[in-house]
This record gives sequence, C-alpha cells and structure tokens, in this order.
Amino acid sequence: MCGIIGILSKKNVVSELYAGLFALQHRGQDSAGIITYDTSFHLKKGIGLVNKVFNDKNLARLEGNIGIGQVRYPTIGPGGVEDAQPFMVNSPFGIAMAHNGNVTNYSELRDKLSKKYYRQLSSYSDLEVILNIFAEEMATQHLQKFSPETVFDTIAKVFGQVKGSYSVVGLIADKGLFAFRDQYGIKPLCFGKKKQSYIFASESVALDQLDFSMIRDVLPGEAIFIDLKHKIYSKVIAKQVPHPCIFEWIYFARPDSIIDSMEVSEARFRLGERLAMECLKAGIHPDVIVPIPDSGRGAALAMAKVLDVEQREGLIKNYYMGRTFIMPKQSLRTNSVRQKLNPVKSIIRGKKVLLVDDSIVRGTTAKEIVSLIRKAGAKQVYYAVTCPPLRYPCVYGIDMMTRGEFIARDYSINEIKKIIGADALIYQNLDDMIDGVRGNRLSQTFCTACFTGDYPTGIKEKDIIKLEKERIKTKKGE
Ligand code: SF4
Repeated sequence: MCGIIGILSKKNVVSELYAGLFALQHRGQDSAGIITYDTSFHLKKGIGLVNKVFNDKNLARLEGNIGIGQVRYPTIGPGGVEDAQPFMVNSPFGIAMAHNGNVTNYSELRDKLSKKYYRQLSSYSDLEVILNIFAEEMATQHLQKFSPETVFDTIAKVFGQVKGSYSVVGLIADKGLFAFRDQYGIKPLCFGKKKQSYIFASESVALDQLDFSMIRDVLPGEAIFIDLKHKIYSKVIAKQVPHPCIFEWIYFARPDSIIDSMEVSEARFRLGERLAMECLKAGIHPDVIVPIPDSGRGAALAMAKVLDVEQREGLIKNYYMGRTFIMPKQSLRTNSVRQKLNPVKSIIRGKKVLLVDDSIVRGTTAKEIVSLIRKAGAKQVYYAVTCPPLRYPCVYGIDMMTRGEFIARDYSINEIKKIIGADALIYQNLDDMIDGVRGNRLSQTFCTACFTGDYPTGIKEKDIIKLEKERIKTKKGE
C-alpha cells in the first residue's frame, strides 16, 4: 500500500503535490518524494513522513507545471532511501514514475533487464523494474512520431510482461502526464479536474482536499495520457474482471474516500451492521461498544445502532505514533501498541466491553488491547472483527507476505480467542464482508485472496513460496 499522485496544470504544481501527499500520508510513512519538470527534472525524496522530507527550501526548487509524488509503505527492499520513489530515467525523452503495488515476477524481469537489455538497477524497488521495461519498450517505438498511441502501445507491452498489482502515475518530459492501472484494478486510482488542472491520485480524499472534482476512477487495464495542451486520451488496453483489494474498504483507505464508486465510510457501516447480527447469533450482549481507532469506528457505530448499546471512545489513540500495522519490525509493533492506545477507565470499568477491530493478522495487537481493557477494569471483553480470518499471504503489495504471520493459519477461532485473552471472538463471514462492502453494486467483485487463497492474477503456489523467500531476502538487503 502506497499513495501516489500526479498533477498537470498551467501553474507550478509542487504545493498541490505536497498537500496531496499529506492527504495520502496514511497510505505510507516510510518515505516520500516528489519530482517535477519544467526544462529539466527536479527531484526530492527521502525517508520519513512528508513533513520530515520536505521543507521550504527544497520545495522551492521543485519548479514545473507537471509533477508526480509518492508516499511509500515498504513491502520489498530494506526500505532505504534508494528505494524511495519517484524514479526517473533519462532516455527516451526523460520519464519519471511512481507506483502503488507489487510486481510478482520481479526477479524474472530484473534478470531480463540486465541480461537482455543491459540495464542495471540501483534499488530493490519493483517500480524501477516497471519504469525500465516501460522505457525499453518506448525506445523501440517510433520516437520521432510520438503520439498518445506511443504511450498506449508501450503500456500494452508493460501489461504483457509485468505481473501483479500496480497503479502507476508518470510523466514524460515535454510530452505529458500519464497514469495506468493493472488489468484487475487491484490498487485504486482516481482521476479529477479543477479548472485547467488534472490530477491522478490513489484516493479521492486527495482530490477533495485540493478542491479538485472527481471525473472518475481509472478503469482496470486503462491508460490515460494528458498532453501539454491538456488534451485527454484514454484507452482500455487489457481488461479482466475487476478485483480491487477489499482491504481498502476494511482498513487502508480513509473513511472520507470513495473508491471505485463505493464509499469507504458507508462500507464500514454496513460491515458493522452485519457483524452485529453475528454477535446477536452468538448471544453476545455488551454494555458498551468500543471501537479500536480509527478503522473500527464506522463498524462500531453501526453495531451500536443494531444492538441498541452505547458506543463510546474507550480507547484513545496517540496520533503522533505511526500506524501499528505498517511499523516494519515486530519489536517496534509490540511496543507501539502500548504507547499508542490508552483506555478510558471510566468507560471501561465494571462493563462488558465489545471491542471492534478491522482485522487480526498476527494477534499481537489484539492481545495487547484485550489486556489493556482488562487492566482498565472490564468485567468481560468481547472482540469483533469486521473481516474473516486472514490465512494467505498478500502478493499484491500489503505487508503480510509470509504464511507464518497469520495466527488463523495455525489456530482455530476458539484457540485465537484464548490466545488473545478474549471472552468471545466474532469474525465476519466472507459473504457478509463482500456484501457489506459492495452495498447495492451487486455484481462488484473483489480480490479476497488473503482470506480465500484465490488470487485473481492466478499466481501458482510455488511462485508464492518463491516470492516469500525473495521478499524476506530483499527486506534484509541481501
Ligand atoms: S490479498 Fe488481501 S490485502 Fe492483498 S490485494 Fe488481495 S484482498 Fe488486498
């Protein structure tokens, strides 16, 4: 999960790119970067949050009416500055790119670039692979007659070679801004407009905060190119049945975003309604419902309504800590839970407390939270989860890449309940999760591979194992 943005305007774009990255900061806190172009490229990227990487001085030199930016969440590579995005190549034309996703045939393409095209890479970033394949293919087109078709033909070649999930924004020097989304539309990407400016961004919240209006989502397998006269060209190049990542609505996206025409906050509310019915079936009657901030809130509100129980903010979050789930090391994760969440004793003491969480991956966070709530004086602690048990690695860019990470792989629900120390544990079932997220879009399909093992891109078991090993190796920087 990363956040990407690209803007083409009649004026300098850096301030809007910078503000847009702030709006997307929840999608990645590992590194941030912006590249702009006027008569040459201007790049600034670094490790850390947006406000750590950028300052008045470096923003001032990022001149140009066209630019792209990214906030990164590491799934491949050791997470050094060499993996920070955007990336650029000088030839042909000068191309810069940023992406959100994960290339599942990364090693094969890296080898091909080195052995067939004599292109050496400088990082472990899979974006660098996409960019070099793109550049190589574009260099073989008729460059003197550059046209939008040149871009579309190039992207068709990328689709033919690059497997996995990827939403990409890019710019070609003196030509224009482009964006494309993989054939399955696994990662989100939306397209907006404001007067004479155009924007691509991972989530609509970036458009809202910059006062852009939504044109539409980029379609799965679609490429859009906007030239310097602001003429828009689009083409669906390689379409499959859409499979956007269902986790966007459960956890990743901000609740004020709309992804693929489905509102995140409404989806979370519907998930809560369905989960409440499961609680009723299990005979759970809490005194108070406490959401685990932030992504448990929408569901908790709906559960309170259905169960006719008060919902209170019984866990207070320290917003100056990073998101637990995307802290890169286990030791950091465990410590950060205690520091990040603090119970409100007056809300908890003597009560049967129903905690509402978006998911359980390793179970370490859930265990810590149950313990915190018990220490605060709860009579009983129930734990409700808005998605089913996670059992399969995500090969599409979420940091749950190895099977050993999933508590539900090795233990039954009853055993997990005991491990986390809860008096009851209720998971959402798969059908209710899908129905809850899609609402009245009845034919909408999703990627649910981490729950079912059914990978939309058809990756084989042996390739998943290979990918696991590679990812562990590159994380160590070997
Ligand atoms: S495997 Fe899970 S987290 Fe990964 S893209 Fe699919 S639904 Fe999302």
